[in-house]
Amino acid sequence: MFESLSDKLDSALKSVTGQGRINELNIAETMREIRRALLNADVNYKVARDITDRVKEKATGDEVLQSVTPGEQLTKIVYDELTRVLGGEHVGLNMADHPPTVILVAGLQGSGKTTFVAKLAKHLRSKGHAPLLAAADVYRPAAVDQLRTLADQVGVPVYSVEDDGQIVQDAVRVADEAVAHAKQKARDVVIIDTAGRMHVDEAMMKEVADIKGAVDPNEILFVVDSMTGQDAVNTAKEFNEQLDFDGVVLTKLDGDTRGGAALSIRTVVEKPIKFASTGEKLDALSEFYPDRMAQRILG
Ligand code: GDP
Repeated sequence: MFESLSDKLDSALKSVTGQGRINELNIAETMREIRRALLNADVNYKVARDITDRVKEKATGDEVLQSVTPGEQLTKIVYDELTRVLGGEHVGLNMADHPPTVILVAGLQGSGKTTFVAKLAKHLRSKGHAPLLAAADVYRPAAVDQLRTLADQVGVPVYSVEDDGQIVQDAVRVADEAVAHAKQKARDVVIIDTAGRMHVDEAMMKEVADIKGAVDPNEILFVVDSMTGQDAVNTAKEFNEQLDFDGVVLTKLDGDTRGGAALSIRTVVEKPIKFASTGEKLDALSEFYPDRMAQRILG
């Protein structure tokens, strides 16, 4: 994950470590290298500038300039800044005081939404919850089948609405009935899989907004493919304007993603990253901890 960024940051920081002392000159050069590394990783321009400005400001404080281990201090400052832009603290899911907790999952087609829904069900099961999945991606029969197949592997039920063997194309009804069904069957979490499109599309947004209006979810998660860099950030902005979601799920962090989406999205959209998906297997999901991610980036 983020190999090129990690290597470049490492070499930028090493160049100072070797120089014994930090001074205005070598700090300026190091900050240029760090900014270049961030921009190469497709980090949003303002975020990259903000990181280096803040690191520079902290690193030129007396304490660091006069320290005998300036390299270590500088690394710690960069680590703190990366942790900050990744969100600072871990933020968990909003759970309902009175079950069922309703979690609405939205994102573009191919982002990894359906896979994530199954992974989240598995994750919640391991914590003692009894999830129900709602198949509100009603336009493609293959989508409902995919959800069922994944749900079988996890051992959780799926709610869908069919008439004469045909899927009823009413996503709001599926979501609404799934919540009622969960109450009846004492399932304490409902996870709603919605339809995505290839691009942001008014009809798709309206449908997800309508589901939101109908079921008043405790948590809206926006799923995004981290391989898509700044496009991921722009898509997040659009979804957030329409849905005011609660958290971001970054997928495909196991691929050769450069890090731009992960490092920019929190600052640009002002919503926490809650989960990281790192593979196609159903246990390849972890709760997102900004400090752990910063640690991995710095190697
Ligand atoms: P949806 O259209 O948003 O529901 O996306 P899917 O859940 O169908 O996922 C699209 C493709 O991405 C599938 O082939 C998944 O197996 C794959 N996928 C999902 N999440 C990940 C991930 O974290 N890493 C990798 N490598 N592939 C993933």
